[in-house]
Amino acid sequence: MDYISTRGSAPTLDFAGVTLAGLASDGGLYLPANWPHFSQDEIAAMRGMPYAQLAATVMHPFVGDSLSLERLRELCDEAYGRFAHAAVTPLVQLDERHWLLELFHGPTLAFKDVALQLLGLLFEEFLARERGTLTIVGATSGDTGSAAIDAVAGRDKVEIFMLHPKGRVSDVQRRQMTTVRAPNVHNIAIDGSFDDAQAMVKRLFADEAMTAKHRLGAVNSINWARLMAQVVYYFAAALQLGAPERSVAFSVPTGNFGDVFAGHVAARMGLPIARLAVATNVNDILHRALTSGDYSQSEVTATAAPSMDIQVSSNFERLLFDIGGRDGSALAGQMRGFETSRAMLLSNAQREGAASLFTSARADQSAMAQAMRWAWDRAGEVVDPHTAIGLHAAHSLDLPADVPIVTLATAHPAKFRDAVERATGTRPTLPLRVGDLFAREEAYTELSGGYDAVRDFILTHASPRG
Ligand SMILES: *Cc1c(COP(=O)(O)O)cnc(C)c1O
Repeated sequence: MDYISTRGSAPTLDFAGVTLAGLASDGGLYLPANWPHFSQDEIAAMRGMPYAQLAATVMHPFVGDSLSLERLRELCDEAYGRFAHAAVTPLVQLDERHWLLELFHGPTLAFKDVALQLLGLLFEEFLARERGTLTIVGATSGDTGSAAIDAVAGRDKVEIFMLHPKGRVSDVQRRQMTTVRAPNVHNIAIDGSFDDAQAMVKRLFADEAMTAKHRLGAVNSINWARLMAQVVYYFAAALQLGAPERSVAFSVPTGNFGDVFAGHVAARMGLPIARLAVATNVNDILHRALTSGDYSQSEVTATAAPSMDIQVSSNFERLLFDIGGRDGSALAGQMRGFETSRAMLLSNAQREGAASLFTSARADQSAMAQAMRWAWDRAGEVVDPHTAIGLHAAHSLDLPADVPIVTLATAHPAKFRDAVERATGTRPTLPLRVGDLFAREEAYTELSGGYDAVRDFILTHASPRG
């Protein structure tokens, strides 16, 4: 499979190449040159497969010649064998039409494990074929950092430098990063917000002092392999609820538009998806873009669902490219306009293309708390704030009664136990698998000197590319 950039002028890469690359050299994001498609019979034949087998079957067309189906299956067995539930992403019924797809049974309690456990193995696999190391740099508001560190700690030829905004991640999230003691893991706390950390990472990718010495890799959802791994659970859920004969709707708590874009990919591959609801909190740029075509950035408001406190959703660019005629040079112009004015209008083709599959809804604090109480009253389920925002959007869907609605449960409630306790009065307990998280010693470096301090720290501590 060939991968092309959304901005039309970066070199074409194969799957191994996009896995190790970050942003495309023209500033765009990589996408497959075409969408693989499964027939109804091929989808029906996936019923009842164990998750790892389903994953290898759904993903192999994207992997092409970079890995054999057998090797991909071995990596999936290893990645998904680390989950605490045999079904990996089990479905839980809430009432006659609403379901939760629990994506938090991995080691760090958020859905990002589903993709990152596999990505860590893919890095190791592809790096073993070449000389040199990959230096991963990332910024996190909490969940990406812990999932990425767990996935690469102790692995060969990979080093990770993870920036988090000091004092702005939950205690569980911070400890999941800082108590991992492996020589290839470096945690950095910066003064500032998540957006400041993210801006530093973008600068590192463009800094020649850095890129001349180190091959930089990405673990956020600009990395195509992450989105690819997330396509699988849309198949898993829909198959259980009657696909391919019956179509299913999904509601997706959305931040960087990665998870919900994976749903769009599943639909392109032939999975019958009736609707995708983009659920946002008060940081609602995507809701505004999908309802009125106005994609304009405003200030980020901190909420109880920090992984959705995002104003600029990187992966939205992938959707605009795919539904707007795949015209890289037109999109490059549109994105440059956005980067200067922090605002853009969607074209008619983009608006109509989005409207055929997507809807959206926005939840403020009280709607979020109400959805949390609804899940508790209706089904005795405690859900986390991100999932509650997804449920709020699920309730806004206007669909025939025979279409099941699946809300993606993106984090374990105990990961955000303070917020859950505030909304419901119940304090969820941490699952046993997180072990003695609060007894372990933490290690991280505080850097208050801005970008230069971060760059110098990485230059001093990272192994050169070999
Ligand atoms: C990352 C995250 C999201 C947002 O996912 P995107 O792919 O960025 O849209 C939602 N909920 C939780 C718990 C997350 O960690």
